[in-house]
Amino acid sequence: MYNILIVGAGFSGAVIARELAQSNKYNILVVDERNHIAGNCYTQRDNETGVMEHVYGPHIFNTNNQNVWNYINRYGEFMPYTNKVKAVTKSGIFSLPINLLTINQLFKKSLNPQEAEAFILSLGDKSIIEPKNFEEQALKLVGRLIYETFFKDYTIKQWGCDPKELPASILKRLPIRFNYDDNYYNSKYQGIPKAGYTQIISNLLDHPNINVKLNTKYNSDWNKNYNHIFYSGPVDAYFNFSKGKLGYRSIYFERNIFDGIDFQGNAVINYCSNDVSFTRIHEHKHFAPWEEHAKSLYLKEFSKETGFGDIPFYPKNLAYDKHLLLKYKKLVHMEEKVSFVGRLATYRYMDMHQVIEEALIIAHNFVDYKKNEQCGNFRSLSINI
Ligand code: UDP
Repeated sequence: MYNILIVGAGFSGAVIARELAQSNKYNILVVDERNHIAGNCYTQRDNETGVMEHVYGPHIFNTNNQNVWNYINRYGEFMPYTNKVKAVTKSGIFSLPINLLTINQLFKKSLNPQEAEAFILSLGDKSIIEPKNFEEQALKLVGRLIYETFFKDYTIKQWGCDPKELPASILKRLPIRFNYDDNYYNSKYQGIPKAGYTQIISNLLDHPNINVKLNTKYNSDWNKNYNHIFYSGPVDAYFNFSKGKLGYRSIYFERNIFDGIDFQGNAVINYCSNDVSFTRIHEHKHFAPWEEHAKSLYLKEFSKETGFGDIPFYPKNLAYDKHLLLKYKKLVHMEEKVSFVGRLATYRYMDMHQVIEEALIIAHNFVDYKKNEQCGNFRSLSINI
Protein backbone atom coordinates (compact mmCIF):
# COMPACT_ATOMS: atom_id res chain seq x y z
CA MET A 1 0.00 0.00 0.00
CA TYR A 2 1.25 3.48 -0.91
CA ASN A 3 0.58 6.47 1.32
CA ILE A 4 -1.36 9.27 -0.27
CA LEU A 5 -2.12 12.67 1.19
CA ILE A 6 -5.03 14.67 -0.16
CA VAL A 7 -5.28 18.29 0.84
CA GLY A 8 -8.84 19.56 0.80
CA ALA A 9 -12.10 17.65 1.26
CA GLY A 10 -14.07 19.32 -1.53
CA PHE A 11 -15.16 17.58 -4.73
CA SER A 12 -11.62 17.26 -6.14
CA GLY A 13 -10.19 15.71 -3.01
CA ALA A 14 -13.17 13.48 -2.28
CA VAL A 15 -13.46 12.05 -5.81
CA ILE A 16 -9.72 11.38 -6.08
CA ALA A 17 -9.72 9.81 -2.60
CA ARG A 18 -12.61 7.54 -3.50
CA GLU A 19 -11.24 6.40 -6.84
CA LEU A 20 -7.82 5.67 -5.38
CA ALA A 21 -9.32 3.93 -2.34
CA GLN A 22 -11.30 1.56 -4.53
CA SER A 23 -8.18 0.32 -6.25
CA ASN A 24 -6.99 -1.02 -2.89
CA LYS A 25 -3.42 0.08 -3.56
CA TYR A 26 -3.42 3.14 -1.35
CA ASN A 27 -3.84 4.33 2.23
CA ILE A 28 -5.34 7.77 1.93
CA LEU A 29 -5.38 10.62 4.38
CA VAL A 30 -7.59 13.59 3.50
CA VAL A 31 -6.92 16.76 5.50
CA ASP A 32 -8.93 19.93 5.56
CA GLU A 33 -8.26 23.06 7.53
CA ARG A 34 -11.96 23.73 8.06
CA ASN A 35 -14.08 21.98 10.67
CA HIS A 36 -16.19 20.29 7.99
CA ILE A 37 -15.88 18.38 4.73
CA ALA A 38 -17.34 19.45 1.34
CA GLY A 39 -15.42 22.72 0.88
CA ASN A 40 -17.55 25.49 -0.57
CA CYS A 41 -20.30 23.01 -1.51
CA TYR A 42 -20.99 22.46 2.19
CA THR A 43 -24.68 22.25 3.06
CA GLN A 44 -26.31 21.92 6.44
CA ARG A 45 -29.80 22.24 7.86
CA ASP A 46 -30.46 25.58 9.46
CA ASN A 47 -31.62 24.95 13.06
CA GLU A 48 -34.26 27.63 13.17
CA THR A 49 -36.06 27.04 9.86
CA GLY A 50 -35.07 23.45 9.03
CA VAL A 51 -34.10 24.68 5.55
CA MET A 52 -31.12 23.05 3.82
CA GLU A 53 -28.59 25.85 3.64
CA HIS A 54 -25.92 26.15 0.95
CA VAL A 55 -23.57 27.71 3.46
CA TYR A 56 -21.04 29.12 0.95
CA GLY A 57 -23.62 30.13 -1.64
CA PRO A 58 -26.01 28.26 -3.92
CA HIS A 59 -24.76 25.27 -5.86
CA ILE A 60 -26.93 23.93 -8.65
CA PHE A 61 -25.48 20.83 -10.23
CA ASN A 62 -25.57 20.89 -14.01
CA THR A 63 -23.64 18.98 -16.63
CA ASN A 64 -23.80 17.59 -20.14
CA ASN A 65 -21.48 14.80 -19.20
CA GLN A 66 -23.47 11.61 -18.70
CA ASN A 67 -20.56 9.84 -16.98
CA VAL A 68 -20.24 12.59 -14.40
CA TRP A 69 -24.00 12.63 -13.85
CA ASN A 70 -24.16 8.84 -13.43
CA TYR A 71 -21.15 8.93 -11.14
CA ILE A 72 -22.48 11.58 -8.79
CA ASN A 73 -25.90 9.98 -8.67
CA ARG A 74 -24.27 6.88 -7.20
CA TYR A 75 -23.37 8.89 -4.10
CA GLY A 76 -26.63 10.72 -3.47
CA GLU A 77 -30.15 11.14 -4.76
CA PHE A 78 -30.64 14.18 -6.97
CA MET A 79 -33.97 15.94 -7.30
CA PRO A 80 -34.78 17.70 -10.56
CA TYR A 81 -34.16 21.41 -10.18
CA THR A 82 -34.27 24.22 -12.74
CA ASN A 83 -32.66 27.51 -11.78
CA LYS A 84 -34.79 30.46 -12.91
CA VAL A 85 -33.21 33.72 -11.92
CA LYS A 86 -34.88 37.12 -11.73
CA ALA A 87 -33.03 40.41 -12.08
CA VAL A 88 -33.84 43.66 -10.32
CA THR A 89 -32.61 46.52 -12.52
CA LYS A 90 -33.05 50.28 -12.76
CA SER A 91 -35.65 49.62 -15.50
CA GLY A 92 -37.69 47.05 -13.57
CA ILE A 93 -37.64 43.35 -12.81
CA PHE A 94 -36.77 40.92 -15.58
CA SER A 95 -36.15 37.28 -16.26
CA LEU A 96 -32.60 35.91 -16.62
CA PRO A 97 -30.73 34.62 -18.52
CA ILE A 98 -31.56 37.12 -21.27
CA ASN A 99 -34.45 35.51 -23.17
CA LEU A 100 -37.33 36.56 -25.37
CA LEU A 101 -39.37 37.79 -22.39
CA THR A 102 -36.43 39.87 -21.15
CA ILE A 103 -35.90 41.40 -24.59
CA ASN A 104 -39.59 42.13 -25.22
CA GLN A 105 -40.13 43.62 -21.79
CA LEU A 106 -36.96 45.73 -21.75
CA PHE A 107 -37.54 47.17 -25.23
CA LYS A 108 -41.38 47.18 -24.90
CA LYS A 109 -41.76 45.07 -28.03
CA SER A 110 -43.52 41.87 -28.98
CA LEU A 111 -40.92 40.21 -31.16
CA ASN A 112 -40.95 36.59 -32.19
CA PRO A 113 -37.74 34.52 -32.00
CA GLN A 114 -36.51 35.41 -35.51
CA GLU A 115 -37.27 39.11 -35.07
CA ALA A 116 -35.61 39.15 -31.66
CA GLU A 117 -32.45 37.54 -33.00
CA ALA A 118 -32.23 40.05 -35.83
CA PHE A 119 -32.98 42.90 -33.42
CA ILE A 120 -30.27 41.90 -30.93
CA LEU A 121 -27.85 41.43 -33.80
CA SER A 122 -28.59 44.99 -34.88
CA LEU A 123 -27.78 46.24 -31.35
CA GLY A 124 -24.38 44.52 -31.23
CA ASP A 125 -21.29 46.66 -31.70
CA LYS A 126 -20.02 45.72 -35.17
CA SER A 127 -16.69 47.44 -34.68
CA ILE A 128 -15.66 44.70 -32.23
CA ILE A 129 -14.40 41.71 -34.21
CA GLU A 130 -12.47 39.73 -31.61
CA PRO A 131 -13.71 40.71 -28.10
CA LYS A 132 -10.72 41.05 -25.81
CA ASN A 133 -12.56 41.43 -22.53
CA PHE A 134 -15.90 41.11 -20.72
CA GLU A 135 -17.18 44.53 -21.79
CA GLU A 136 -16.31 44.06 -25.46
CA GLN A 137 -17.88 40.61 -25.42
CA ALA A 138 -21.13 42.06 -24.02
CA LEU A 139 -21.22 45.06 -26.36
CA LYS A 140 -20.61 42.87 -29.38
CA LEU A 141 -23.21 40.31 -28.35
CA VAL A 142 -26.09 42.37 -26.94
CA GLY A 143 -25.28 46.09 -27.27
CA ARG A 144 -25.01 48.86 -24.70
CA LEU A 145 -28.50 48.97 -23.17
CA ILE A 146 -28.57 45.30 -22.19
CA TYR A 147 -24.95 45.50 -21.05
CA GLU A 148 -25.62 48.48 -18.83
CA THR A 149 -28.95 47.18 -17.51
CA PHE A 150 -27.85 43.68 -16.51
CA PHE A 151 -24.10 43.24 -16.61
CA LYS A 152 -22.02 46.32 -16.01
CA ASP A 153 -22.77 47.24 -12.38
CA TYR A 154 -23.31 43.63 -11.30
CA THR A 155 -19.92 42.70 -12.70
CA ILE A 156 -18.21 45.66 -11.04
CA LYS A 157 -19.78 44.65 -7.72
CA GLN A 158 -18.95 40.98 -8.21
CA TRP A 159 -15.38 41.35 -9.42
CA GLY A 160 -14.36 44.72 -7.94
CA CYS A 161 -12.78 45.92 -11.17
CA ASP A 162 -13.57 47.42 -14.55
CA PRO A 163 -15.25 44.81 -16.83
CA LYS A 164 -12.64 45.81 -19.43
CA GLU A 165 -10.05 44.06 -17.26
CA LEU A 166 -11.97 40.78 -17.06
CA PRO A 167 -11.79 37.87 -19.52
CA ALA A 168 -14.57 37.62 -22.15
CA SER A 169 -15.05 34.00 -21.07
CA ILE A 170 -16.92 35.05 -17.91
CA LEU A 171 -19.83 36.41 -19.97
CA LYS A 172 -19.87 33.30 -22.13
CA ARG A 173 -21.08 31.37 -19.07
CA LEU A 174 -24.51 32.94 -19.55
CA PRO A 175 -26.76 31.87 -22.42
CA ILE A 176 -28.74 34.36 -24.50
CA ARG A 177 -31.97 32.90 -25.83
CA PHE A 178 -34.48 33.95 -28.42
CA ASN A 179 -37.30 31.89 -26.93
CA TYR A 180 -39.09 31.98 -23.58
CA ASP A 181 -36.87 29.34 -21.97
CA ASP A 182 -35.63 30.91 -18.71
CA ASN A 183 -33.58 27.96 -17.45
CA TYR A 184 -30.30 29.52 -16.26
CA TYR A 185 -28.31 26.59 -17.63
CA ASN A 186 -28.18 24.82 -20.97
CA SER A 187 -27.00 21.56 -19.45
CA LYS A 188 -28.77 18.30 -20.15
CA TYR A 189 -28.62 17.06 -16.54
CA GLN A 190 -29.56 19.42 -13.71
CA GLY A 191 -30.47 18.87 -10.09
CA ILE A 192 -29.86 19.40 -6.40
CA PRO A 193 -29.07 16.57 -3.97
CA LYS A 194 -32.02 15.74 -1.76
CA ALA A 195 -29.88 15.26 1.35
CA GLY A 196 -27.40 18.04 0.48
CA TYR A 197 -23.87 18.12 -0.92
CA THR A 198 -22.24 17.33 2.42
CA GLN A 199 -23.93 13.94 2.36
CA ILE A 200 -22.53 13.22 -1.11
CA ILE A 201 -18.99 14.12 -0.09
CA SER A 202 -19.41 12.10 3.09
CA ASN A 203 -20.51 9.08 1.04
CA LEU A 204 -17.53 9.52 -1.29
CA LEU A 205 -15.14 9.58 1.65
CA ASP A 206 -16.78 6.65 3.42
CA HIS A 207 -14.28 3.90 2.57
CA PRO A 208 -11.98 1.78 4.77
CA ASN A 209 -8.87 3.03 2.91
CA ILE A 210 -9.72 6.70 3.57
CA ASN A 211 -9.10 8.65 6.77
CA VAL A 212 -10.24 12.24 7.14
CA LYS A 213 -8.71 14.78 9.50
CA LEU A 214 -10.49 18.11 9.88
CA ASN A 215 -9.17 21.30 11.50
CA THR A 216 -5.80 20.34 10.05
CA LYS A 217 -3.75 22.87 8.18
CA TYR A 218 -1.48 21.26 5.61
CA ASN A 219 2.23 21.69 5.92
CA SER A 220 4.47 20.79 2.97
CA ASP A 221 7.04 19.36 5.40
CA TRP A 222 4.70 16.35 5.54
CA ASN A 223 5.34 15.54 1.88
CA LYS A 224 8.31 13.34 2.78
CA ASN A 225 5.95 10.92 4.54
CA TYR A 226 3.82 10.33 1.47
CA ASN A 227 4.29 8.73 -1.94
CA HIS A 228 2.11 11.32 -3.56
CA ILE A 229 0.14 14.44 -2.61
CA PHE A 230 -2.96 15.81 -4.27
CA TYR A 231 -3.28 19.45 -3.34
CA SER A 232 -6.53 21.34 -3.91
CA GLY A 233 -5.82 24.56 -1.99
CA PRO A 234 -4.81 27.86 -3.58
CA VAL A 235 -1.63 27.47 -5.63
CA ASP A 236 -0.06 30.69 -4.31
CA ALA A 237 -0.63 29.59 -0.70
CA TYR A 238 1.19 26.30 -1.42
CA PHE A 239 4.31 28.28 -2.27
CA ASN A 240 3.85 30.65 0.68
CA PHE A 241 2.97 33.47 -1.74
CA SER A 242 6.65 33.62 -2.69
CA LYS A 243 5.89 35.13 -6.12
CA GLY A 244 3.03 37.33 -4.89
CA LYS A 245 -0.66 36.95 -4.20
CA LEU A 246 -3.01 35.79 -6.94
CA GLY A 247 -6.34 37.61 -7.15
CA TYR A 248 -9.28 35.57 -5.93
CA ARG A 249 -12.63 37.18 -5.24
CA SER A 250 -14.31 36.23 -2.00
CA ILE A 251 -17.98 36.39 -1.12
CA TYR A 252 -19.74 36.81 2.18
CA PHE A 253 -23.34 36.80 3.28
CA GLU A 254 -25.76 38.66 5.45
CA ARG A 255 -27.98 35.92 6.84
CA ASN A 256 -31.63 36.59 7.66
CA ILE A 257 -34.67 34.65 8.84
CA PHE A 258 -38.05 35.59 7.42
CA ASP A 259 -40.90 34.78 9.78
CA GLY A 260 -43.25 33.69 7.02
CA ILE A 261 -43.53 31.22 4.17
CA ASP A 262 -41.95 33.13 1.30
CA PHE A 263 -39.61 36.11 1.45
CA GLN A 264 -38.94 36.83 -2.23
CA GLY A 265 -40.85 34.22 -4.24
CA ASN A 266 -37.79 32.81 -6.00
CA ALA A 267 -34.51 31.05 -5.18
CA VAL A 268 -32.20 33.69 -6.68
CA ILE A 269 -32.81 37.35 -7.42
CA ASN A 270 -29.89 39.30 -8.85
CA TYR A 271 -29.49 43.01 -8.12
CA CYS A 272 -27.94 44.33 -11.29
CA SER A 273 -27.50 48.01 -10.44
CA ASN A 274 -25.17 49.83 -8.09
CA ASP A 275 -27.90 51.35 -5.91
CA VAL A 276 -27.46 48.38 -3.56
CA SER A 277 -24.06 46.93 -2.70
CA PHE A 278 -25.03 43.24 -2.63
CA THR A 279 -25.11 41.21 -5.84
CA ARG A 280 -27.96 38.80 -5.17
CA ILE A 281 -30.35 37.42 -2.59
CA HIS A 282 -30.86 33.68 -2.34
CA GLU A 283 -33.74 32.16 -0.45
CA HIS A 284 -32.66 28.64 0.26
CA LYS A 285 -35.97 26.83 0.74
CA HIS A 286 -36.64 27.42 -2.97
CA PHE A 287 -33.64 25.22 -3.85
CA ALA A 288 -35.63 22.34 -2.32
CA PRO A 289 -39.20 22.82 -3.58
CA TRP A 290 -39.96 19.24 -2.49
CA GLU A 291 -39.70 20.38 1.16
CA GLU A 292 -42.06 22.51 3.26
CA HIS A 293 -41.00 24.95 5.97
CA ALA A 294 -43.02 27.47 7.94
CA LYS A 295 -40.19 30.02 8.02
CA SER A 296 -37.60 31.01 5.48
CA LEU A 297 -33.87 31.66 5.35
CA TYR A 298 -32.46 34.20 2.92
CA LEU A 299 -28.93 35.43 2.35
CA LYS A 300 -27.72 38.66 0.81
CA GLU A 301 -24.50 38.01 -1.08
CA PHE A 302 -21.67 40.54 -1.10
CA SER A 303 -18.36 40.31 -2.86
CA LYS A 304 -14.93 41.47 -1.74
CA GLU A 305 -11.24 41.09 -2.41
CA THR A 306 -9.78 38.04 -0.68
CA GLY A 307 -7.64 39.17 2.22
CA PHE A 308 -5.56 36.88 4.41
CA GLY A 309 -7.98 34.69 6.35
CA ASP A 310 -10.81 35.07 3.80
CA ILE A 311 -12.02 32.11 1.78
CA PRO A 312 -11.08 32.43 -1.90
CA PHE A 313 -13.96 31.69 -4.30
CA TYR A 314 -13.37 33.08 -7.79
CA PRO A 315 -10.00 33.33 -9.59
CA LYS A 316 -9.93 36.82 -11.10
CA ASN A 317 -7.43 36.14 -13.86
CA LEU A 318 -6.50 39.77 -14.52
CA ALA A 319 -3.35 40.57 -16.50
CA TYR A 320 -1.28 40.73 -13.30
CA ASP A 321 -2.63 37.34 -12.18
CA LYS A 322 -1.80 35.73 -15.52
CA HIS A 323 1.75 37.00 -15.20
CA LEU A 324 2.05 35.65 -11.65
CA LEU A 325 0.48 32.35 -12.63
CA LEU A 326 3.25 31.71 -15.13
CA LYS A 327 5.77 32.03 -12.32
CA TYR A 328 3.79 29.65 -10.13
CA LYS A 329 3.47 27.18 -12.99
CA LYS A 330 7.25 26.95 -13.13
CA LEU A 331 7.31 26.10 -9.42
CA VAL A 332 4.50 23.57 -9.90
CA HIS A 333 6.54 21.79 -12.55
CA MET A 334 9.37 21.39 -10.10
CA GLU A 335 7.15 19.61 -7.54
CA GLU A 336 7.79 15.97 -8.29
CA LYS A 337 5.30 14.36 -5.96
CA VAL A 338 2.44 16.85 -5.93
CA SER A 339 -0.57 17.09 -8.23
CA PHE A 340 -2.41 20.40 -8.22
CA VAL A 341 -6.12 19.80 -8.66
CA GLY A 342 -9.39 21.73 -8.76
CA ARG A 343 -10.49 25.36 -8.92
CA LEU A 344 -8.05 26.93 -6.47
CA ALA A 345 -4.90 24.93 -7.23
CA THR A 346 -5.20 25.31 -11.00
CA TYR A 347 -6.59 28.85 -10.73
CA ARG A 348 -9.56 28.38 -13.04
CA TYR A 349 -13.26 29.34 -12.81
CA MET A 350 -14.56 25.76 -12.73
CA ASP A 351 -18.01 24.37 -11.97
CA MET A 352 -18.60 21.27 -9.86
CA HIS A 353 -19.10 18.97 -12.84
CA GLN A 354 -15.80 20.07 -14.43
CA VAL A 355 -13.99 19.51 -11.15
CA ILE A 356 -15.45 16.00 -10.88
CA GLU A 357 -14.67 15.19 -14.51
CA GLU A 358 -11.03 16.17 -14.09
CA ALA A 359 -10.72 14.48 -10.71
CA LEU A 360 -11.92 11.22 -12.25
CA ILE A 361 -9.40 11.47 -15.10
CA ILE A 362 -6.57 12.36 -12.74
CA ALA A 363 -7.42 9.53 -10.33
CA HIS A 364 -7.75 6.93 -13.08
CA ASN A 365 -4.53 7.98 -14.75
CA PHE A 366 -2.82 7.87 -11.41
CA VAL A 367 -4.06 4.39 -10.65
CA ASP A 368 -2.98 3.30 -14.12
CA TYR A 369 0.45 4.89 -13.64
CA LYS A 370 -0.08 6.94 -16.75
CA LYS A 371 1.09 10.45 -17.19
CA ASN A 372 -1.61 12.92 -17.94
CA GLU A 373 -0.89 16.23 -19.61
CA GLN A 374 -4.40 17.37 -20.30
CA CYS A 375 -5.95 17.82 -16.87
CA GLY A 376 -5.84 21.50 -16.32
CA ASN A 377 -3.40 24.29 -16.66
CA PHE A 378 -0.63 22.51 -14.91
CA ARG A 379 1.08 19.21 -15.36
CA SER A 380 -1.32 17.56 -12.98
CA LEU A 381 0.54 14.41 -12.31
CA SER A 382 4.12 13.57 -11.71
CA ILE A 383 3.91 10.02 -10.56
CA ASN A 384 6.94 9.01 -8.70
CA ILE A 385 6.01 6.06 -6.58
N1 UDP B 1 -23.47 38.53 -14.47
C1 UDP B 1 -23.99 39.80 -14.54
N2 UDP B 1 -25.28 39.99 -14.16
C2 UDP B 1 -26.06 39.01 -13.69
C3 UDP B 1 -25.53 37.70 -13.63
C4 UDP B 1 -24.21 37.49 -14.00
O1 UDP B 1 -23.30 40.73 -14.93
O2 UDP B 1 -27.22 39.27 -13.35
C5 UDP B 1 -22.05 38.32 -14.89
C6 UDP B 1 -21.10 38.54 -13.70
O3 UDP B 1 -19.90 39.10 -14.17
C7 UDP B 1 -20.89 37.13 -13.21
C8 UDP B 1 -20.86 36.36 -14.52
O4 UDP B 1 -21.85 37.01 -15.34
O5 UDP B 1 -19.70 37.00 -12.48
C9 UDP B 1 -21.16 34.88 -14.40
O6 UDP B 1 -22.41 34.70 -13.79
P1 UDP B 1 -22.81 33.35 -13.04
O7 UDP B 1 -24.23 33.47 -12.66
O8 UDP B 1 -22.39 32.20 -13.89
O9 UDP B 1 -21.90 33.43 -11.75
P2 UDP B 1 -21.75 32.44 -10.49
O10 UDP B 1 -23.08 31.80 -10.25
O11 UDP B 1 -20.64 31.49 -10.83
O12 UDP B 1 -21.38 33.38 -9.38
